[in-house]
Amino acid sequence: MPNITSVLNDQIRRLAKREIKANTGVIRKATTQYRHAIAALKKQVAALTNRLPRPPLTPWRCRSCGQTKHRASIQIQTEGEEDFVGETDGAVDAARWPDGFGWFSMSIKCATCGMETPEGVSYEAM
Ligand SMILES: [Zn+2]
Repeated sequence: MPNITSVLNDQIRRLAKREIKANTGVIRKATTQYRHAIAALKKQVAALTNRLPRPPLTPWRCRSCGQTKHRASIQIQTEGEEDFVGETDGAVDAARWPDGFGWFSMSIKCATCGMETPEGVSYEAM
């Protein structure tokens, strides 16, 4: 025989669930519609962005002599194979340790006058 307390608790739970569902249903549905709309807009923005013309490439001119012929030097720094294997925890083939470099930089030197632009590009990669 069910006791009055458990019957009341079941009824309260059922009513509370129904009440919550009724109060949040409209908001949940609207949130889902907004998420779909936002995803569609992001897709549209990406498609339109890809259709934009790229700016024309312009050669780098030396700040001293104005010439465009340069020599570039690239520096790649890595912590080594042991560090790479430890960081990737075996998820990546150890032979690919050079791919795990931590710093990339590039210097440019004018081929005409020799003016150097040290570390024109310098990024930490990890
Ligand atoms: Zn120059």
